[in-house]
Amino acid sequence: MAMMIDGAALARQIRELVKARTAELAANGRVVHLTAILVGSTGAGELYAQRQKETCAAVGINYELITLRADATAEDVAATIHRLNRDLSVTGIMLHLPLPEHLDATELQYQIDPVKDVEGVNPANIGYVVYGHTLIAPCTALAVIELIRSTGVTLRGAEAVVVGASEIAGKPIALLLTEEMATVTLCHIATRDLRAHTSRADIVVVAVGKPGLITGEHVREGAIVIDVGINRVKQADGTSRTVGDVVFEDVERKAAHITPVPGGVGPMTVAILLRNTLRSAELLFSKPKDLY
Ligand code: NAP
Repeated sequence: MAMMIDGAALARQIRELVKARTAELAANGRVVHLTAILVGSTGAGELYAQRQKETCAAVGINYELITLRADATAEDVAATIHRLNRDLSVTGIMLHLPLPEHLDATELQYQIDPVKDVEGVNPANIGYVVYGHTLIAPCTALAVIELIRSTGVTLRGAEAVVVGASEIAGKPIALLLTEEMATVTLCHIATRDLRAHTSRADIVVVAVGKPGLITGEHVREGAIVIDVGINRVKQADGTSRTVGDVVFEDVERKAAHITPVPGGVGPMTVAILLRNTLRSAELLFSKPKDLY
């Protein structure tokens, strides 16, 4: 029976570290300040931003929300980002997704100064990871690495299989695992025999968005299984619940360690966003001000 990797408990530890360091900086007059941009005022977007504000406040990070009209043009959003890039009091910037349909999220995320890019979504930040000069790595990928590390496994030389190859999850996860010297296989929609790969892996990371994709037959005894997927599924009684991409009850019988959904990658990703926000501020504070 697998041991559960408690993402919520690990996330608490990270929040405590961020809180202590943020307080130290504040005592030296250095304020960590995250500005988020929300385009169009939807209920879900506002609620998410309110939660984020509370999460930041709990660790002493200033949080400011800029809400632009739903019909804001790409130029309007880019101009806001450029202003925040230049503002010395802003240490971190993020763009809430989804954006209204007429806006291209990737194009706009390119505009965020890589040092202030707390989500690690500017392609320059992926490039820095490749070259071994990491500034800010993507949150979900970092969360996955921390969850794997918490099991005590040696990543160097381990066989790791990542299922799903998106820019936001699968590819950055594969990249960070490669940086850790794991031997990485990246599976995607064109993979001919998924099970042939996953069933020989020491570590299986699944980031697809398809409930039930990974069953007990896909993993070997003693594997570490990290489930990034978040899916809402209807149950027989008409209510719905959140599940991952892994058939938990099935896989936990074979795996050595497994993340639950909810309570695994999700809370860790939120905590890593805070840690990245602290890191952005520390990178900025360590640079001569006239650079910015
Ligand atoms: P996405 O952009 O839809 O990417 C899914 C990836 O999986 C694509 O590369 C897709 O290939 C591939 N894929 C589809 N079916 C597959 C199959 N049968 N076998 C292997 N690969 C397959 O989704 P995403 O943004 O990466 O998110 C994936 C899941 O993780 C979602 O459930 C999302 O909610 C969750 N997520 C969670 C967090 C968190 O913090 N916990 C963060 C990010 C995402 P094609 O595009 O070629 O079809």
